[in-house]
Amino acid sequence: MGWRSDGTDLRLAFHFAFPLPFACVKRMSFPTDTIAALATPVGTSAIAVVRASGPEVLTLAQNIFGETPPPRIARRADYRDLAGQLVDDVLFTYFAAPNSFTGEDSLEISCHGNPFIAQKIVGDLFKRGCRPAEAGEFSKRAFLNGRMDLSQAEAVMDLIHARSERALAAANQQLRGSLERRMTGLIALLVKSLAHIEAYIDFPEEDLPAEDQKAILVQIDALLAGTRQLLATSQYGELLREGIKTVIVGEPNAGKSSLLNRLIGRDRALVSPEPGTTRDYLEERIIVGPHWLRLIDTAGLNATPGVLEGRGIDKTIEQAKSADLFLWVVDASRPTPALPPALVGRMTEKNTIVVRNKVDLLPALSAFESPLFLSVQISALHGTGIETLQDEVAKLSEMFQVQVGTEVIAINARHAHALERARMNLEAAQIKLQEKVASELVSSDLRETLAAFGEISGKIDNEKMLDVLFASFCIGK
Ligand code: GDP
Repeated sequence: MGWRSDGTDLRLAFHFAFPLPFACVKRMSFPTDTIAALATPVGTSAIAVVRASGPEVLTLAQNIFGETPPPRIARRADYRDLAGQLVDDVLFTYFAAPNSFTGEDSLEISCHGNPFIAQKIVGDLFKRGCRPAEAGEFSKRAFLNGRMDLSQAEAVMDLIHARSERALAAANQQLRGSLERRMTGLIALLVKSLAHIEAYIDFPEEDLPAEDQKAILVQIDALLAGTRQLLATSQYGELLREGIKTVIVGEPNAGKSSLLNRLIGRDRALVSPEPGTTRDYLEERIIVGPHWLRLIDTAGLNATPGVLEGRGIDKTIEQAKSADLFLWVVDASRPTPALPPALVGRMTEKNTIVVRNKVDLLPALSAFESPLFLSVQISALHGTGIETLQDEVAKLSEMFQVQVGTEVIAINARHAHALERARMNLEAAQIKLQEKVASELVSSDLRETLAAFGEISGKIDNEKMLDVLFASFCIGK
């Protein structure tokens, strides 16, 4: 096949090189119906918003409100249902395609926040021909219409669910394309390498020259570094979504449950002077500074436990295995115990704070330093030192944040899965290149990598890829 001859062949070559993204584009079916749904939660509130999107929206607005609304200007009107009955005094805004969230003609109707009114309006829109929107369908349409890529659509979900300042910041950056920009850079580089290699496949008599092989290896190195950098943000992504798992450990009666109650601001855990009362573990989510924490109170680590208590301790150890942070509560009025043996090795200066509790029982508060860990002195009973403890927890939590360039990126499990596949294929390509295996096989690994990268955004910009490919062919041999 003569890739050097004319544009048609080039396009064909491109089609062979990138079958997956093409297939992906072909499979997409574009919606033709108009959907409607309540955009705010069901319940009583000041206002409720009903949303519709699709080709019939303008006709719908004309029929309901008796006017052709100017785009993006809120109008006040009576909402009358199909039978002509007055439902509510509403504000409505028409968004003309493509300048709307979905990229289609859209309508937002703000009515009074009575679920009965909102439901009447939604029901009336259905009677007028709208279809009930499925979960996520507005975002899906935004994606299909190229208003955002998949990673941005996911960022919309993250924004809605963000529970901490950090989660909000990461979701906002992703919505503004932080991950997409990274992926675009990686894809551009990958396409360059792929084009370089593919150029030799049609000429089996010609070996990949040493300098070209070296250049591609350098590119693959850069691709691997970029992929690994993004993968490293995966744990932070999980922490933003699930909370930093902070396990409270210590001997029975040290004051672990009292500390949990203090930190969450209410009595959740049973506090008792009798040791060994917490036999299972309790979990609560709290905000500490800009962070979201999963706080877990565990059974006291008693060296000589009873049967039931022993089972509780097993659970503590189980929880501790996957802990991100430890709050090791010790009783300041007693000799400092040894580090719980089961947790030695897990607890480090980076993830542990010794919480020296019950300082109110000391005749005078003296400076205290743990030889191994950062320490804070508190009285869970009286609330002293809690703010300092929160500050220290917030500081330790900072270490989980991974900066990629100037941006904070926190990929989710779906991204991690795709990037892991990309990494494996890149490593395979690297080995094959070093061992001078046939270019077809290297190219096959790189195509797999491209498909994996493409999964993150859900699309690959074919035009841009053609441009890169064309440019490479011109300068290549
Ligand atoms: P846990 O077994 O480690 O969960 O400990 P608890 O929170 O149940 O507390 C055990 C006992 O210590 C209870 O009687 C608490 O009231 C008491 N206690 C907890 N924190 C403090 C504190 O800061 N000062 C004093 N004086 N007593 C405390």
